[in-house]
Amino acid sequence: MYSIGIDIGSVGTKAVLFNGEIVDSIIIPTGWSPKNAGKEVLETLINRNNITKEDIKKIVVTGYGRVSCDFADKVVTEITCHAKGANFLNPNVRTILDIGGQDSKAIRVSEIGMVEEFLMNDRCAAGTGRFIQVMSNLLEVDVSEFDGLANEAKPQTISSMCTVFAESEVVSLLAGGATKGSIARGIMESIANRSVSMMDRVGIDGEVVFTGGVSRNETLRDIISKRINCEVKTYENSQLAGALGAAIIGLK
Ligand code: ADP
Repeated sequence: MYSIGIDIGSVGTKAVLFNGEIVDSIIIPTGWSPKNAGKEVLETLINRNNITKEDIKKIVVTGYGRVSCDFADKVVTEITCHAKGANFLNPNVRTILDIGGQDSKAIRVSEIGMVEEFLMNDRCAAGTGRFIQVMSNLLEVDVSEFDGLANEAKPQTISSMCTVFAESEVVSLLAGGATKGSIARGIMESIANRSVSMMDRVGIDGEVVFTGGVSRNETLRDIISKRINCEVKTYENSQLAGALGAAIIGLK
């Protein structure tokens, strides 16, 4: 018996086919229709694994687009799903930092992956993937190149807490001759500040796992590890944590 967990995010739609282990997974851009993106990942997983809908115990949907899905057997909040997914990736996790396309969250969980405390920023683009996307456009690099660029350089201070003001600050820094690397590093430091402050407020405890698309950025992970004096862990499937948690709930 299988379950399918689908996480329809603002930027990416993720899905996991699960039978106690991850059998298959997929990530596609959400695009303009969250419902279509959800259907597409569902059908792809079913077709390419030669299974039928009868083989699936439950389809559980989470993420910002979850309300638009009429094919879900169950709809669950992102916080609950991320907690379950991160607990699967690392059973010792007690603190989760999730940074996606348009929001960020800090979650403290129990040893069985139940949510004890959480904070979510979904009001402001600063400190999210959107912030990095805006800045990478300004620096004329791809988000995936940000890591290498920010890796060595000494940071410029980016003091604005607002994406729009930070954009002006970066334009001025570029005009003043600051290197792209030092600016990229400054941007990472500013995201780390916001993230650590959120994590502090929920209370940092036990092992720390970083999830969401932005967890691909190793420089950011290392800066946060140094700040909190504790190794922040990321996994190959970190971006799938929400979909994985939904699938785990579906199989129960
Ligand atoms: P959502 O669930 O909100 O759609 P995801 O968790 O799928 O978000 O993450 C998508 C975000 O991750 C995008 O904003 C994207 O720019 C960002 N991202 C992807 N790869 C990287 C990377 N290497 N460095 C920084 N950000 C990244």
